[in-house]
Amino acid sequence: MKNEFLKKCPFCGNSPVFEATESDGYGGEAKVYFKISCKHCQISYPEEYKIVVGLTEEGEMKYLIDERDLAVESWNKRYE
Ligand SMILES: [Zn+2]
Repeated sequence: MKNEFLKKCPFCGNSPVFEATESDGYGGEAKVYFKISCKHCQISYPEEYKIVVGLTEEGEMKYLIDERDLAVESWNKRYE
């Protein structure tokens, strides 16, 4: 996932960023909540998204929930 998939901020034309807002975890799973924001204008897409990762028995990180595509899609749609 790269920020270049995100359309520029409609207000200032700068590139928005993924911004982690909160994290927690239980039972071996870690959750990271995030928004897509423009740091220049201090605005964020109102929706908050999440990523949940766990560890497989093979020692790989596994995405149990990954809403990054959804977040990018929503951000890009908003300003079409
Ligand atoms: Zn902006």
